[in-house]
Amino acid sequence: MYGFQEYKSMDLLSDLKRLLPLAGSRLSADEPMAAHTSFRIGGPADIFFEPASDDEIILMASYCQERDIPLTILGNGSNILVADAGIRGVVIAIGEPMAGIIQQDDLVMAGAGTRLATLSSWAANHGLSGLEFASGIPGTLGGAILMNAGAYDHCMAEVMVLTEFLDEKLQVSAVVRQEHQFAYRSSIFERRCLIITRACLQLTPDEPQAIIARIADLNQRRRASQPLELPSAGSAFKRPAGYYASKLISDCGLKGCRIGDAQVSEKHAGFIVNVGKACATDTRRLFKYVRQVVADRTGVTLEPEVRFIGDWQHWEPDGDQG
Ligand SMILES: Cc1cc2nc3c(=O)[nH]c(=O)nc-3n(C[C@H](O)[C@H](O)[C@H](O)COP(=O)(O)OP(=O)(O)OC[C@H]3O[C@@H](n4cnc5c(N)ncnc54)[C@H](O)[C@@H]3O)c2cc1C
Repeated sequence: MYGFQEYKSMDLLSDLKRLLPLAGSRLSADEPMAAHTSFRIGGPADIFFEPASDDEIILMASYCQERDIPLTILGNGSNILVADAGIRGVVIAIGEPMAGIIQQDDLVMAGAGTRLATLSSWAANHGLSGLEFASGIPGTLGGAILMNAGAYDHCMAEVMVLTEFLDEKLQVSAVVRQEHQFAYRSSIFERRCLIITRACLQLTPDEPQAIIARIADLNQRRRASQPLELPSAGSAFKRPAGYYASKLISDCGLKGCRIGDAQVSEKHAGFIVNVGKACATDTRRLFKYVRQVVADRTGVTLEPEVRFIGDWQHWEPDGDQG
């Protein structure tokens, strides 16, 4: 029996393999998170697990709860910066094995691991409009619901009917419509530790060719304005009320500003990109520096949109987390 801090990841792995005999390569120890994040940055997770069912999530999460082992839930890792020290405990990454789409008329039910791009193009091909904005967002449905992902004046809140999740006691539960408490880049799931497993969306019938053309147009606009050729986690900061983060950053002369291999994109100042082998510490220092300069020069405090995940305890020797 392990308690947190007492385990070694390899011992934990062999214990978990007994619990989840069918997990195979979906369960690993000391897994480099750089391989699972769009930033291509991040140290090892003690245990990394990609579940294929609610039952597997419940088995793993209750194992962790009973032993006081920290648990981190992730999707496709496209909105996070993982510490160089990695992530202690168990990461449950809800991805491809938890993907799937079924339809009844204009209602679409999809697994939390379904990629937004897949869902968007599936909807287009089935003559359902409403997810065009999401086609270029490289996250999963679960991650998109949690932060009410959005683009080009549309967001998840507009199409969400119901989200099913496992609550703190690992009971299956659901929220409908307004109960999601959606706001700009936030939802009820941001404030409570819940595991999103699937969701129902309501879309609007339209001509597939028209929907596909709108998607192509948005993707073209995205390619023209965003540094998609370099690893990043999308917009670094949330849009402050009344301003655009990228304009504030650019007006402060920070385009191209660099710490190590982390750089404020020269193409789009709202993005921080990894131009080589950026480490998490340098990248977070750049977030902190940009925030400081913008606050000093404009009086506006930027709030990171990217989430800092994992063991950040010793990243800044002066203890100032920024
Ligand atoms: C090039 C690029 C462009 C982007 N453009 C946009 C954009 O236009 N608009 C936009 O909003 N975002 C954008 N993003 C950011 C990102 O893709 C979205 O925020 C996306 O919704 C994150 O989903 P994910 O599955 O990658 O979540 P992750 O990054 O894995 O996780 C994000 C958060 O969600 C939580 N989470 C994930 N899945 C679950 C689940 N099943 N249950 C409970 N919690 C969960 C995690 O704990 C974490 O706190 C962009 C990113 C990149 C790299």
